[in-house]
Amino acid sequence: MRQPSKTASPIRLTVLGATGSVGQSTLDLIARTPDDFEIVALTAQCNADELATLAIRHRARVAVIGDDAHYQALKERLAGTGIIAMSGRDSLVAAAQIPVDCVMAAIVGVAGLAPTLAATQQGCRIALANKECLVSAGPMFMRAVRDHGATLLPVDSEHSGVLQALSAHSPDMLDKITITASGGPFRTWNVTRIAAANPEDALKHPNWVMGRKITIDSATLMNKGLELIEAQHLFGVTPDQLDVLVHPQSVIHALVSYKDGSVLAQMASPDMRTPIALALAWPQRMAAPTKPLDLAEIGALTFERPDETKFPALRIAKAAMRMGEGATTALNAANEVAVDAFLAKRLKFPHIAQIAEQTIESLLRGGSLKEPHNLETALALDQEARNQAQDHLAAL
Ligand code: NAD
Ligand code: MG
Repeated sequence: MRQPSKTASPIRLTVLGATGSVGQSTLDLIARTPDDFEIVALTAQCNADELATLAIRHRARVAVIGDDAHYQALKERLAGTGIIAMSGRDSLVAAAQIPVDCVMAAIVGVAGLAPTLAATQQGCRIALANKECLVSAGPMFMRAVRDHGATLLPVDSEHSGVLQALSAHSPDMLDKITITASGGPFRTWNVTRIAAANPEDALKHPNWVMGRKITIDSATLMNKGLELIEAQHLFGVTPDQLDVLVHPQSVIHALVSYKDGSVLAQMASPDMRTPIALALAWPQRMAAPTKPLDLAEIGALTFERPDETKFPALRIAKAAMRMGEGATTALNAANEVAVDAFLAKRLKFPHIAQIAEQTIESLLRGGSLKEPHNLETALALDQEARNQAQDHLAAL
């Protein structure tokens, strides 16, 4: 894998989900050293105008819009630029298959699974932001990474922290991996107040600016549960070796504890451009415009245990991780349905965790939970879980 440098040829990069929060942060970094990168394909779901603007600015070869309804708008905006416009789900997969050195997988939700899996099959480097891939189909996805010789690098800040704190240590001396959580906007709220929280409250994340889905997941702490499952697959550890610590300042992102008592922590100001830069430049580093960490200005770093009574989504996600056998596929699907419904004001905040738990339970009772072994079985279980989640939602 080539590294960014003035002399090496540029890294060919595709960004899946280019118009999103991670996609934009990625392109912001690239724009600072444009000679080090060559943008091959950019994708988005609905925003044809923004996608075209990005494709023109970064001189992409291909721009793909997932929703066919926006194809005409994209084609018109790109007329005369030489950039190829495509649309539809198959085209997202086709874009991921164009040979490159690195694919930034930054689509949100299980919608990212097929294109990200297709990217692994070309054996390139995958900068993985789309954690739902690993939650929904972790064993199958990791097998594809190994079988095709792809290099999987986490973009999630906590997992990027783990990767750095793990470097150069023998795996059998690893004791525990701890990922931190800011605690979200409701950390200090009581249960009654949380129960009445509306989407506007939940979208006010204290430390990070992110897409809407992950921001709601951060408010429920489901995000931390999804990240435990992500860590289990990325680092090949058992649920017993994984822990969560609430750390409201979001300065320490991960801690790796060794059997000799040593604990290595990774720190950075909360800015996604730091972990993105590491995934793009690994195993080297590239500069990012993140605010330098000034610990004297911050003054104190504090820690709390997560409250799983106030935030049951974390408990439910942990149980699904231990259960395995498709339980995390169901968890992810039900959570996506419930978060959409919460954002549309069709259910109350506590119902998100409730729908996730009811969906896993009903699929378990119906004998439908089975570890997906390929894309088709993963998407079939995802769909079945979505149907169940809709039924539970209707019965609220
Ligand atoms: P976002 O909502 O800001 O952007 C999502 C991107 O995916 C957009 O480009 C959108 O057009 C595209 N997209 C949405 N639905 C799609 C579909 N059905 N098919 C194809 N494309 C679709 O999301 P984000 O915050 O950038 O998060 C992206 C991923 O990165 C998520 O999996 C999230 O959990 C993960 N992540 C994000 C952050 C962050 O700081 N934003 C941090 C860690 C991990
Ligand atoms: Mg994270």
